[in-house]
Amino acid sequence: MIHISKPYINYQEINSVTKVMRSGNLTQGGMVKKLEKIICKLCNAKYAIATNNGTSALHAALIACGVSKGDEVITTSLSFIASTNAIVMAGATPVFADVDEKTFNIDPTIIEKKITKKTKAILAVNLFGQTADYDKINKIAKQNNLLVIEDAAQSINASYGKKKSGNLADISCFSFYATKNITSAEGGMIITNSKKFYEKAKILINHGQENKQYNYVRLGYNYRLTDIQAAIALEQMKKIDFITRKRRSIAKIYTAGLKNLKGLTIPFESPNVFHVFNQYTIKISDKFPVSRNNFIKKLAKKNIQTKIYYPQPLFSIPHLKQYDKKFKMPIVSSIVKEVVSLPIYPALTIQEINLIIKTIRNI
Ligand SMILES: *Cc1c(COP(=O)(O)O)cnc(C)c1O
Repeated sequence: MIHISKPYINYQEINSVTKVMRSGNLTQGGMVKKLEKIICKLCNAKYAIATNNGTSALHAALIACGVSKGDEVITTSLSFIASTNAIVMAGATPVFADVDEKTFNIDPTIIEKKITKKTKAILAVNLFGQTADYDKINKIAKQNNLLVIEDAAQSINASYGKKKSGNLADISCFSFYATKNITSAEGGMIITNSKKFYEKAKILINHGQENKQYNYVRLGYNYRLTDIQAAIALEQMKKIDFITRKRRSIAKIYTAGLKNLKGLTIPFESPNVFHVFNQYTIKISDKFPVSRNNFIKKLAKKNIQTKIYYPQPLFSIPHLKQYDKKFKMPIVSSIVKEVVSLPIYPALTIQEINLIIKTIRNI
């Protein structure tokens, strides 16, 4: 079976975890701090705070930069559910915007039309490893006195112009879930250049405790990362350039093998963006010889796993329907019917890639 994704774990990660476990310092032995430092260096950012997952990172980041009850946060209608759940968890109201047809990311030209007196922030997502259009997003934010939150769960090591993902907004978040480019099984990171946001986030992820033990200054959460997990991520970080290069080269082979097929659209790469291909997502339109469902079935018959990221717009999910203002969202509504993601991960062999391409070409 060729799986859709596979973490790139080797003896280095295993040895490092074993070492932490033998040390007896499972939580606060210094690995977390090391990881935070390395992430700061990667993003050329001032502050980083590790969390136990990407969703908690987003939740704490939103509160840290002042998003609270009654605020509206403009966000994309195509993402993993956590990017919107974090807004709801912070007590704010998500306001959905349609996406760009080519990049699948929030369409900046629509953001302005959604701004009201209650708008506090824009939460953009870098879907599939390609960053959103931050020059435009940050400009709109500046003109309207809004904050920008970057959901970079899928885009570690990507860049936008000369800047690294994780440093494209007022506050950014990574996820280290098992399917992300860098993993610690579960894990996350908050990144910012604002001392104020950093200090607040640090308190929020540790029960609301400030400076010394039992000094609680507000409601907080237990969102801390463990040293065991940080040990995994630290080894992964040593391989980040290899992992990125591998993913990009697999994408290049797919693109060469799948271009010019009727009804099949290969991923678009913005010229200004260094795409890290957390997913390789194609579109199967009704001009393709078979339906998307049959396409998936035919690949499954050859033991090739595919996945639909994502099968519905966020505003169609039951608990988020209440935020659907019934604006027309033609792009996302058609994208969700056409997208399908192909296997992409460093251990994928050239034989497997060629089999996938050949199978698709035969269909
Ligand atoms: C994975 C992901 C998250 C959440 O991260 P977890 O670590 O799974 O909590 C948030 N946003 C996006 C876009 C993601 O892909």
